[in-house]
Amino acid sequence: KYSTAAAIEEPIKPPVTVEHTQLLINGIFVDAASGKTFSTLDPRTGEVIADVAEGDAEDINRAVSAARKAFDEGPWPKMTAYERSRILFRFADLVEKHNDEIAALETWDNGKPYEQSANIEVPMFVRLFRYYAGWADKIHGLTVPADGPYHVQTLHEPVGVAGQIIPWNFPLLMYAWKIGPALACGNTVVLKTAEQTPLSALYVSKLMHEAGLPPGVLNVVSGFGPTAGATLASHMDVDKIAFTGSTETGKIILELAAKSNLKKVTLELGGKSPFIVCEDADVDQAVEMAHFALFFNQGQCCCAGSRTFVHERVYDEFLEKAKARAVQRSVGDPFKGGIEQGPQVDSEQFEKILRYIRAGVDSGATLETGGERHGTKGYYIQPTVFSNVQDDMLIAKDEIFGPVQSILKYKDLNEAIHRSNASRFGLAAGVFTQNIDTANALARALRVGTVWINCFDIFDAAIPFGGYKMSGMGREKGVYSLSNYLQVKAVVTPLKNP
Ligand code: ADP
Repeated sequence: KYSTAAAIEEPIKPPVTVEHTQLLINGIFVDAASGKTFSTLDPRTGEVIADVAEGDAEDINRAVSAARKAFDEGPWPKMTAYERSRILFRFADLVEKHNDEIAALETWDNGKPYEQSANIEVPMFVRLFRYYAGWADKIHGLTVPADGPYHVQTLHEPVGVAGQIIPWNFPLLMYAWKIGPALACGNTVVLKTAEQTPLSALYVSKLMHEAGLPPGVLNVVSGFGPTAGATLASHMDVDKIAFTGSTETGKIILELAAKSNLKKVTLELGGKSPFIVCEDADVDQAVEMAHFALFFNQGQCCCAGSRTFVHERVYDEFLEKAKARAVQRSVGDPFKGGIEQGPQVDSEQFEKILRYIRAGVDSGATLETGGERHGTKGYYIQPTVFSNVQDDMLIAKDEIFGPVQSILKYKDLNEAIHRSNASRFGLAAGVFTQNIDTANALARALRVGTVWINCFDIFDAAIPFGGYKMSGMGREKGVYSLSNYLQVKAVVTPLKNP
């Protein structure tokens, strides 16, 4: 059994100070028009890290007019694509140079292990911007054959002002997924960060301007969803909105877009991803991968493998080992070396996860390990494993967004496919098998945007990501993401003989 006595020591002092807390509008840091601020908290203790300017409708209006002017009057969309590309490459170099400070800020605000921020997320951020910098000067249209004497060409033009609303689970990566393609394609941007994690975006946006980004091209407004976020989604001067967050909020965004100016919308929403362990799987490897698929990032991943389907023949062995692995998971101060799991992002998420754990117990699932808070301070939760989970239990249907693994037993593959697909979500799936035919069959049968076979959470810049069903609309990353930020203009000219 997991030890509830595990003490959290005095928090380690983060190796960084907070430099930027204001809104970034038209290339300068400014206070909110209202003068209001809100506190962003350290999830290790619940104590205030900094007071941050709280943008609302008036600040979004200011940011949108700066972005509008930078788009309509230039220089951004009128610059050569090569110049835009060079700014994005320079930005990536600057972020790389400040890797450790940025990683520390991310960990402080979000709670994720510093080693993860420093060795995975900031380097991935840099890689994403280099990927999009590489695209900037390779975007072009086609010459199209017509049934008459016409010269027909298509121009791939930027959409205009892009509004982008991001969540708190991967503040930097969500920034890169959104801003990378938008800027590479020549759009201007108003970004609304999540109220839980406003700090890293302000830091890197300063570097973006050091890299030579003209004022007004990228504006960053910290603030809350129903005020700043909703104003952005319903703004008449915003041409496109990209959102990542909950399915409930995604519906609101789509409605606000439709009710205002029918701006183009892409949504990356919730999930309840199956992780299917087949009867021929190497159990030790499957346990490790299923553990990673669920527990990575404190379980705060939209694509988390949160329904672990295990074939009955390997179920008992899998369960014992999965439980042992969870018990072994190192939980503690995310600034400490060797820590796998830090605190959840805030008290709201912390309470919500504990409620789901209670619901799991009440509905008759077997609590194998964990189930309570870890330590006495901050938002740490014990790595938790439920067995004997049934499809109709709340913990098998809702997105928990925490370190809670639900293990379900199945008998044959068709049943696993049917049960996997019986969800309103369709974001991702993991498949664990040594049989190529099983892998191919499952890859085609699962109604999800990503299938990871014998791996999980592989997030290269070039791999598209997005959801089927209520997990969203559109794809981010890869070549597919460019179409979110481009529109196609057909130009037709008569061909005349000289
Ligand atoms: P979570 O529950 O994980 O915090 P949300 O979907 O509520 O997910 O939040 C994701 C992002 O959406 C955040 O930046 C948040 O401020 C924003 N948001 C929340 N509600 C609204 C809303 N009504 N309109 C626009 N944005 C919103």
